[in-house]
Amino acid sequence: ATPTALMVGTARSAKLGVLIKNGQALEEVNHVKTVVFDKTGTITAGKPVVTDVIGNQQKVLQIAAALEVNSEHPLASAVMAKAKQYQLRYSQATDFQNIEGKGVKAAVDGQNAFVGSAKLMTTYQMADDLKTEMTRLQNDAKTVVLVGLAGQVIGLIAIQDTPKKTAAQAISELKARGLKTVMLTGDNQRVAQAIGSQVGIDQVIAGVLPNEKADHVKALQQDGQVAFVGDGINDAPALTVADVGIAMGSGTDIAIESGEIILMQNDLMGVVRALEISKKTFNRIK
Ligand code: ADP
Ligand code: MG
Repeated sequence: ATPTALMVGTARSAKLGVLIKNGQALEEVNHVKTVVFDKTGTITAGKPVVTDVIGNQQKVLQIAAALEVNSEHPLASAVMAKAKQYQLRYSQATDFQNIEGKGVKAAVDGQNAFVGSAKLMTTYQMADDLKTEMTRLQNDAKTVVLVGLAGQVIGLIAIQDTPKKTAAQAISELKARGLKTVMLTGDNQRVAQAIGSQVGIDQVIAGVLPNEKADHVKALQQDGQVAFVGDGINDAPALTVADVGIAMGSGTDIAIESGEIILMQNDLMGVVRALEISKKTFNRIK
């Protein structure tokens, strides 16, 4: 494309809230075979809300709050909002540790505790009825956080984050254009699959640790060019490795820096728009 055509293309997209940092990114979109999406904050609204607390509700929330008050994770905010709603008092945790992609650990009143995924359970015991509850909630598309204290899982907190209004439409339009769609998430397989079905995604890759996201993008690149769409700190390497990195305008600074295309309205239909503008710009002028 001529420089003028490129300028027209990027200006047209900017009007639609799709910011394109360079002409090469706009051209690459045309060649993409697979679009990979992060889940939280990209496919979902990223506004998680606690829906269920299983176990001794007050105790479970008190321990969870004591730990999560130290975390900046969106799930931690959901837990703190719930604790605040009940005006719960909680102890000050010590020896706080953030375990990336898994949860948080600390000591509360001299006892070891954790809040996070089953990957943190290691030496903890969990009663069968809690395991059954966990599966039920996960199948219901809820992220289940385990609360462990002194070697026992004492309860569960179910957290819901619903897909964005236009997510299903955007994915269906990408599929209609012959693209493969994939969801990449650190969340549990059952939850990811349940949300994936709600939005009609082709493939779900779950339980991915933050440092593994870029490797999955590389593997998918075996089948052709890959666009990665994400918003988080841990999405930055995948945004960089992908042939086209697409960041949410609501994303973290590092995600926005790593992306070549920014969706200012956080609307996944922006991916479809970028595709259309790329086609127009690069098919018209050769
Ligand atoms: P995602 O890929 O959905 O953004 P993360 O990689 O941040 O997810 O986290 C993966 C999983 O680790 C979460 O689904 C949750 O089970 C657990 N986790 C991570 N951080 C926390 C936290 N602060 N509190 C509770 N659970 C957490
Ligand atoms: Mg995210």
